Amino acid sequence: MTSTERPFLNRSLAEFGTTIFAEMSALALRTGSINLGQGFPDTDGPEEIREAAVRALRDGRGNQYPPGPGVPELRTAIAAHQQRRYGLSFDPDSEVLVTAGATEAIAAALLALLEPGDEVIALEPYYDSYAACIAMAGGRRVPVTLRPDGSAFRLDLDELRAAVTDRTRLLLINTPHNPTGTVLTRAELTAIAELAVERDLLVVTDEVYEHLVFDDAEHLPLAGFPGMRDRTVTIGSAGKSFSFTGWKVGWITAAPALVSAVRSAKQYLTYVASGPFQYAVAEALALPESYFAGFRADMHAKRDLLAAGLAEAGFGVFHTSGTYFITTDVRPLGESDGFAFCRALPERAGVVAIPNAVFYDHRDQGAPFVRFAFCKQTGVLEDAASRLKTLAA
Ligand SMILES: *Cc1c(COP(=O)(O)O)cnc(C)c1O
Repeated sequence: MTSTERPFLNRSLAEFGTTIFAEMSALALRTGSINLGQGFPDTDGPEEIREAAVRALRDGRGNQYPPGPGVPELRTAIAAHQQRRYGLSFDPDSEVLVTAGATEAIAAALLALLEPGDEVIALEPYYDSYAACIAMAGGRRVPVTLRPDGSAFRLDLDELRAAVTDRTRLLLINTPHNPTGTVLTRAELTAIAELAVERDLLVVTDEVYEHLVFDDAEHLPLAGFPGMRDRTVTIGSAGKSFSFTGWKVGWITAAPALVSAVRSAKQYLTYVASGPFQYAVAEALALPESYFAGFRADMHAKRDLLAAGLAEAGFGVFHTSGTYFITTDVRPLGESDGFAFCRALPERAGVVAIPNAVFYDHRDQGAPFVRFAFCKQTGVLEDAASRLKTLAA
């Protein structure tokens, strides 16, 4: 949509059209297609956690405004999770903040930490709210592009280093990375940490897929690297870790001065959210390791199923080490424009996907890439794979 069609929208948001997910989900509905566009699971998380939410609601816990920082039970559970899983200690009172999903955490962090004109380096392709939130905060985004390197997308550390200027305030990192499925390695994270320390940068790290890493990939929180503890805001989400994306429970962990800054912005966005769900997520975070291992194994099998189907249909398939997503290359199918391909795919094969170009500033760099979500039931993925086979014919 052009600005003449939206005469009241302010300049900072004018460049952002309606999100692609609205267009593609409407297209899926209209054509009866299988929607592998938006990343939400089509089965809910653990039954006992749903029951915990019902119990909280019935017992009158969280039905009125919860405390601004989040209910103490949840903040304690978040701190315990970071300690148990990563050996990182956070004080539940001063170093944890519950937010309305990771989406609000991203917005509040950027609104709180940026001055107008500050540069933010973000890994491109990026999650679609990053660019809009940087703009709303008056910042300038500086993309550093992940590029195909063999079977996966990789970060070029020299390019990252070269992107830092005297105006750079913040690195916005995302690992495991949506949409490429790249999981940053220990060596890459070490280099990012060294750069942040050397140039005295803040780091906001979106780790909502921390539990979804496959093969021998390992999720390492950036906050655990030398010099990072007090300059890093780490973001997590119950939507992604427990398959309750509609509950909108997210959180940050950070040093007290950063948490208090982010809380200042957050209190004038939603103030609070998701009262009863906060109690349920506290229980979810305390689930035994078998839950997380089972969740990971299930998603791993779904990844393999969809990756095989996409390869059989003739796509170039990049290796996904984490997240819900597989990025493909449509050029082996004789296509070059992912946008046109995704607009035609529902008619051609009855499947909806997302053109990665929407996640790029340099749209030409993302043109041939298309993202498919595999966080769907096995039968749905099998059906999608068999529909996509028509492309190979
Ligand atoms: C889904 C997602 C979010 C948003 O998480 P919510 O908790 O649903 O707000 C943030 N970042 C990335 C990379 C995501 O994929």
